[in-house]
Amino acid sequence: MRKLVTLLMMALLVATSVGTALAGDTLADVKKKGVLVVGCKDSLPPFGYIDENSRRIVGYDIDFVNAIAKKLGVTVELKPVTSASRMPQLQEGHIDIIAATMTKNAERAKVIDFSHTYFFTGQKFITKKGSVKSLKDLDGKRIGTAKGSTSEQNVKRAIPTSTVLSFDDYPQAFLALQQGKVVAVTTDEAILAGILAKAPNKAQFEIPAIQISDEPYGLGMRKGDTNFVNFVNKTILEMEKSGEAAKIFEKWFGSNTQFHLERTFKITADK
Ligand code: GLU
Repeated sequence: MRKLVTLLMMALLVATSVGTALAGDTLADVKKKGVLVVGCKDSLPPFGYIDENSRRIVGYDIDFVNAIAKKLGVTVELKPVTSASRMPQLQEGHIDIIAATMTKNAERAKVIDFSHTYFFTGQKFITKKGSVKSLKDLDGKRIGTAKGSTSEQNVKRAIPTSTVLSFDDYPQAFLALQQGKVVAVTTDEAILAGILAKAPNKAQFEIPAIQISDEPYGLGMRKGDTNFVNFVNKTILEMEKSGEAAKIFEKWFGSNTQFHLERTFKITADK
């Protein structure tokens, strides 16, 4: 019996210390090591994708973490993640922060902490032109999306009769659409618009005006990592105030008034 109690106490001790080590103080750690390790997307323009000339990952998400790193006086190391891998990568300590088209919601906020909203969009579909006019047209159809995304959950809820095919990331789902293996790809409109803009045969596709959810993006940090969360939030607020956030928006979205209006209204409401 005494042995069992000792074992249990040891297990508890290990569990507590692992928990503490993981929550830790990323702000202090990052300053000490001189580098902020960021989990980002590498195939989703304009959020995170490989620039053809520089061969570096660039984008809206990247510019936000660059600004945070600059304020900390450290460099940035970018590690590509998928929708499914980003939370485990953070929890296991392989990355310090997630900047990867990630929606903040209550379910995820049980596991990780989120920054203030830094982008706002909503879930739509990309389809062959003229094939889908309303959600009903997607009843019983095959729809592509990404594993581990809110898109996957939302579409199953919105169209229960559909067959959802989940890929590692959205460009693979779009390839399936081009090959006729699915009739639609669904995720955040801003991602779909980025995919469509780069598609060689874009005239064949469209994004019908059917929205099934709101998707506010937040930067993801380890649960209970309070100093770091506060620092990131403070930096985002400063960026909003100084106009730096708006400048980053214009760099990647230009005069896209729709996303601009959503950004201005919804992000202000978030604070
Ligand atoms: N924003 C949604 C999400 O966080 C879809 C985009 C993505 O998979 O990154 O799941």
